[in-house]
Amino acid sequence: MKAIVVGAGIAGLVTARQLGLAGWDVALLEKSDGPRPDGYMMDFFGPGVDAAERIGLYPRLAAAAYRPDAVEYVDTRGRRTCSLDYGQFSRLAGGNVLSLLRPDMERAALAALADVPAGRVRIRYGARLAGAWNDDDGGVRAAVVGPTGEVLTGDVLVGADGIHSEVRARIFGPERDYLHPLGMRAAAFIAEDPKLASRFRNRFVLTDSIGRMAGIYSLRTDQVAAFLVYRDAGSTDSGPLATSARERLRNEFDGLGSTVDRLLELCPEYPYDDVVAQTIMPVWHRGATVLVGDAGGAVSLLAGQGGSLAIAGGALLGDLLGPASSPDGVSAALGVFEERWRPQVEAAQKAGRRAARSFLPANRVQRLARRWVIRATHLPGVDRLVARQILGQTVK
Ligand SMILES: Cc1cc2nc3c(=O)[nH]c(=O)nc-3n(C[C@H](O)[C@H](O)[C@H](O)COP(=O)(O)OP(=O)(O)OC[C@H]3O[C@@H](n4cnc5c(N)ncnc54)[C@H](O)[C@@H]3O)c2cc1C
Repeated sequence: MKAIVVGAGIAGLVTARQLGLAGWDVALLEKSDGPRPDGYMMDFFGPGVDAAERIGLYPRLAAAAYRPDAVEYVDTRGRRTCSLDYGQFSRLAGGNVLSLLRPDMERAALAALADVPAGRVRIRYGARLAGAWNDDDGGVRAAVVGPTGEVLTGDVLVGADGIHSEVRARIFGPERDYLHPLGMRAAAFIAEDPKLASRFRNRFVLTDSIGRMAGIYSLRTDQVAAFLVYRDAGSTDSGPLATSARERLRNEFDGLGSTVDRLLELCPEYPYDDVVAQTIMPVWHRGATVLVGDAGGAVSLLAGQGGSLAIAGGALLGDLLGPASSPDGVSAALGVFEERWRPQVEAAQKAGRRAARSFLPANRVQRLARRWVIRATHLPGVDRLVARQILGQTVK
């Protein structure tokens, strides 16, 4: 059996690996020229933890994880206004939260392809999907723009190509029908600055600001990871904007103090910069085409579970499709995938929408309320409330 998987992000890599282990030949198409180096720290908890343990990916993820002690909010002079104990947060999630840099998560999933017999999964970087068709005989075709532009055929087409999925656009309809912006944009980049890196070890430092928030975390090297979120209520533009992201970020984040000023100096011209959004679809499969990860069920980066759901969804899809040996088998597996996976994605999306409502305080009163809640997290009950806000249904 032959699969075409579009997108070598976390969901695509895991799906391709599981299919390869089951004996499928997989063409994995990725439009970028290599693994993407961008992204911030992601909390890894929830369904992805069990899935990663089951498929043997967990040790690779744990080896790449960071161990923060606290989340600290600071004012424009860098003074702490309130903080959250990270150990407590982790305990409430069942003691199983890993903090992983997005590119490290992708690298771990990529390294795990080594478990598949050689030649079964062929990654083609610089290959962008530009057309997709479900055929009447139950198969699929995909047109690729890239070094060897061609039309591939397969028994299944997996769209693991993120929130602006081309597979979704080709088979299910335009982005505007499925992408739901949450009123914010987010940018992330990694930059080298030994001085900044040594100041922020083992702490997530966030600005205690209104309508926008900058975050910084020191990496193992002399690098820092930066994260910037700001309100963008007027825009429904879901892709990169016309103005340079760096210029826009410099305007949006002016006046937040010297650390943020320095981060903006370090910002590359093209950081990761996108709308904060969810993908909501009534159905994820049509013919022999299926969507997985953000392409079909993005929860938004505010839900904190994007990577976890990408791993769990990719592992489940790969394992259900694995034994299929005919169009009917593929169709049955896709039906079961949808039935088993949808409730988990919808629960995480609900948590994401809840988190979006309070993520950026709109005024001083809301900011004060957030400080009170965070300061009260040492009280039994309140700690659960805060963790549930962040972790969704995983806190009992
Ligand atoms: C560069 C980047 C940085 C991110 N940073 C963060 C972060 O800091 N925090 C956070 O919570 N989430 C972040 N995310 C989102 C997070 O990675 C996802 O929520 C989660 O990992 C689910 O991943 P996914 O594999 O479904 O999609 P994605 O991670 O979006 O991966 C999709 C892949 O498909 C490729 N692709 C897209 N279109 C095509 C096409 N037509 N042909 C071929 N390939 C295509 C993309 O290049 C990408 O590699 C980031 C995503 C990206 C792409």
